[in-house]
Formats: sequence, structure tokens, C-alpha cells
Amino acid sequence: MSSATSSERLTAAIERREADRVPVIPQITYATAQLTGVGLVEALHSPEKTAEALLAGQRTIGYDAIYAGWESSFNLLAEAMGCTMRYPQGDVPYVIERIVKDPGDVEKLAIPDPARSGRLPIHMRTVQLVKREVGEAVPVFVYVPGPFTLAGQLYDVDRLLRMTVKDPGFIQALVEVATAASVRYAEANVDAGVDVVVVADPTAGPSLISPKMFERFAAPGIRKVFDAAGAKGAVLSLHICGQSTPLLERMCETGAQILELDHMVDLAKAKAQIGDRVCLQGNIDPADVLLTGTPDAVAEAARRCIDQAGAGGGFILSSGCEVPPRAPIANVGAMVEAARQYQRRAA
Ligand SMILES: [Zn+2]
Repeated sequence: MSSATSSERLTAAIERREADRVPVIPQITYATAQLTGVGLVEALHSPEKTAEALLAGQRTIGYDAIYAGWESSFNLLAEAMGCTMRYPQGDVPYVIERIVKDPGDVEKLAIPDPARSGRLPIHMRTVQLVKREVGEAVPVFVYVPGPFTLAGQLYDVDRLLRMTVKDPGFIQALVEVATAASVRYAEANVDAGVDVVVVADPTAGPSLISPKMFERFAAPGIRKVFDAAGAKGAVLSLHICGQSTPLLERMCETGAQILELDHMVDLAKAKAQIGDRVCLQGNIDPADVLLTGTPDAVAEAARRCIDQAGAGGGFILSSGCEVPPRAPIANVGAMVEAARQYQRRAA
């Protein structure tokens, strides 16, 4: 088979067909700053410098898509909705003051305008710059906050979890506003050139809430984001951190075409359980392998993932979660090289 483009590899994976090789798409954003020397905080305010680093990552390392963004989408949206952020030098920002302090604050929340609110215009410009450069050959992914996770940013995760029991009506109202914000953000990203909308919902994972609570508080919002992004032609992916095995069926039922699985998920079991319905993406350990392991250890982990889930297609080799900012570029390169060299045995 002659060499396919990255977009063709992704399409094949979503349709659960084999292409010339397994697509390899590490969830890498900040770590590309190592290639251009841009400061992590400096890039937060410069779409040009962020796009330059993201493009350098794809061109230098050769993976099959770009995650266009620079920080957790839930922080970006929380800030645009009125939360106060701290920007530590050389590290990733985080929320220091929440906008929702009690139930009465929910009705004061406004849905942010991607063209005007906070730093959303910087993000949108980054997406446009990246897509303009890579064109149709390389897909562009973006993280959109799961509404339940965004609600946790607006109000505080611990209190959110407690109030699902004490005042579920309040949490449902808060999640509804967060859903409207995530929907509008997702639509704007697709309009700006994004091909794959990845709903990132770490707070909705089984380590924090039960599958039953996922169905009640998180899944309806995820479906609304997918309905809106899907109507605009985007491919739909769902990212839930941690041990998501108990949630796999429910994750499928959201309408996701791709599931991003963390490193503790048994890929072979996931493939057997749901591999006939959805494309799986994962799941090299971001910390113990990509950050602190050797290139050989990365290559070995990559081959193991391909062995577990690559046969027949429907698999994207990736990190289990975001690539840490200081993960060695050589390790990300070893992942890409493993996909290039190893997968043909499946054909
Ligand atoms: Zn994750």
C-alpha cells in the first residue's frame, strides 16, 4: 500500500479499517515549547508563538495530527466566565478564585463569546493559524471541556461532588450553563478549522463519580456538545482520565467516534468489549514512560499498545493523557517511530 496522508489514516481508524500504518497522535501541546524555546506563559498570550510551537512539533516529530491549544480548555473557558487564574512562570496556569460561590451565582453567569471573552480570541486565532498552515492533510484536534468538568472549575470540584448529593438541582442548573458554554466554544472551534472535537471530562471519570452519576450529571451535556459539533461536520472524541473501564459502554453511548483511554485501561479488553463500535486511542503512560522513561521504554510500550489494539484498524497510538510539558522530545519521537516501523505486521 502506498503512503497515506495523516487525514486518510485518521479516517480509516474512525471507520475501523487499516491504513498503511497505525496513526500516531500524541496528546502534545505545551511540550512543543521545547522546540521553539517559547515560554509556557508567554505563549498563552501569543497565538503566533503558540501556533509556531505546535507546528514545529508536528513537522519535527512527524505525528498525524495537532492538538491546537495550549492549556486545559476548562481553565480557558472558566477564565472567560469570570474565574481568576494564576500564571506561574514555566508552568501551567490554574484557577485561584471561582466565579460561582453559592447557588444564587448561577443565574449571573454569562455564556462567553469566543470572539471577545477572556483569552478565547487568542485560542481561536491559534486554531486558524495552525489550520491555515497544515491544510487538509493533517487533522486538527481541540479539547472542549466536558460540561461537568467545567462546572467543577467554576464552582470547585470537591464542593461540586458534595452538592450532587445535597443539592442536585443546583448542580444540574450549573451544568446546564456550562453545557451552553461548551457547545458555543465547540462550534466556534469547528468554524475556526478544527476537525476533531475532543470532549475532555476528567471530573466525570470513575475515580470521582459513579457510572450512574456520570449518566445523570455528565452524559447529557457531552451529548449536546457532540450533537452541535457533529452537525458542523466534526469528528467526535471523548477523553476521560483514569481507570475508565467501568464506563466504556456509557462512553460509547454518548455518540463518540473515538475514545481516548488513559494508561491504566487494559487496551486488549477494551478492544474486545467495544472495538467493533468505536475507535480507541491510547495509552502510553504519560508520567512513568513518556516523562521519565527512555526512548526504548517508550518504543516497547508503543508496540505493546499496537499489539493489544491495532489489529484490524480502529486504533490510534497515543499517550494516555496529555504529554507532560517537560517530557523529552526524543520520547515522543520514539512513539512516532514505533508506529512507523512496527505496525505493518498487522497487515
Ligand atoms: Zn486525561
